[in-house]
Amino acid sequence: MIRFERVTKRYADGTTAVDDLSFEVAEGELVTLVGPSGCGKTTTMMMINRLIEPTEGKIFVDGEDISQVDPVQLRRRIGYVIQQVGLFPHRTILDNTATVPALVGWKRAKAKARAAELLDMVGLDPKKYGSRYPDQLSGGQRQRVGVARALAADPPVLLMDEPFGAVDPVVREQLQDQFLEMQASVRKTVVMVTHDIEEAVRLGDRIAVYGQGRIEQFDSPGAVLGNP
Ligand code: ADP
Ligand code: ADP
Repeated sequence: MIRFERVTKRYADGTTAVDDLSFEVAEGELVTLVGPSGCGKTTTMMMINRLIEPTEGKIFVDGEDISQVDPVQLRRRIGYVIQQVGLFPHRTILDNTATVPALVGWKRAKAKARAAELLDMVGLDPKKYGSRYPDQLSGGQRQRVGVARALAADPPVLLMDEPFGAVDPVVREQLQDQFLEMQASVRKTVVMVTHDIEEAVRLGDRIAVYGQGRIEQFDSPGAVLGNP
């Protein structure tokens, strides 16, 4: 579903963030990118939805060379969840979640019904929380809304950058569990950045262990734990 072919990213100041990287993520697979800060995880991920352009090499999504795909069209197929989810403060949780279906042209009632379904899926009762505003939710609940919103247009691919990083360990574990449960039913192709090896191993079908600009190991949780 996602393929990197000898991809290098050098920033304008000469920093090589990603160095001749090749890998593939299969359809329905959840791959976690783990490693120390500054080793190129975020850069890798942001090249998949063309928020960052590679300096060299090619990236394919669903067989298509993404340099040939309009970025706006591409991002409709790729949900994106970041650590500090930016919700619209003056819109309710239901409206925040319904934004994307509304943007892609759904009728209001259909978009709201879909939003309610998604909130339910991420473990937020739409009846209880749908009419609240973002500042009336906890950090963990806001992250759930972020996940619901990213799934709203039903994209085949989901990119997540430390999605559970900003919450305390107990909530973090709840979010992880909920996410695994949801992923078991929706089976998105997921690339998730984390700096937490435990999270990487717990969630990933496979784990890409980063060194400086490179993937040093790309393997199953068992193999990564057996050979750290
Ligand atoms: P993390 O991945 O550790 O949560 P960030 O993704 O915010 O942190 O940044 C990763 C690294 O990239 C950090 O070392 C940060 O200083 C650096 N960085 C981010 N943006 C820029 C930039 N525009 N110019 C230079 N360095 C940057
Ligand atoms: P990670 O997500 O693993 O923390 P990043 O992909 O954010 O790593 O960063 C990889 C390297 O690229 C770091 O050395 C970082 O400082 C650098 N970097 C990130 N963004 C920029 C930028 N916009 N300009 C220059 N250097 C950057």
